[in-house]
Amino acid sequence: MRDLYDIATDTINPIKLKKNGKAGHVACALETVSGAVYTGICIDVPCSIGMCAEQAAIAEMLKNGETKIKKIVAVYEDGSILPPCGRCRELISQLDIENENAIVAIDNGREVTLKDLLPERWDKKWD
Ligand SMILES: [Zn+2]
Repeated sequence: MRDLYDIATDTINPIKLKKNGKAGHVACALETVSGAVYTGICIDVPCSIGMCAEQAAIAEMLKNGETKIKKIVAVYEDGSILPPCGRCRELISQLDIENENAIVAIDNGREVTLKDLLPERWDKKWD
């Protein structure tokens, strides 16, 4: 299987939207524990009503009935890896308890687990 970075890079397809909007300049590829790969692109429009590429890839994963992420990477149009924002980290954590072990690419050559990014859970009480 191709590396997730290459899949995300191939998914990048920047397009300009009305006024100051754009999309597709960040792409995400994630692999689930089943080995399936899902991709998504960002949507960036004024008033912060767009969404991150991770969220689009997660929606594809959920559409296919999966929740457990093995590895995830997001790539900017210049080829650099973007670590997930705080909202995406929290979203990933709330999909499945096993996602605390998801491998997250945080820059070129560095990978950590989601647990490393969110060490002190606010929701331990409900695990
Ligand atoms: Zn995000």
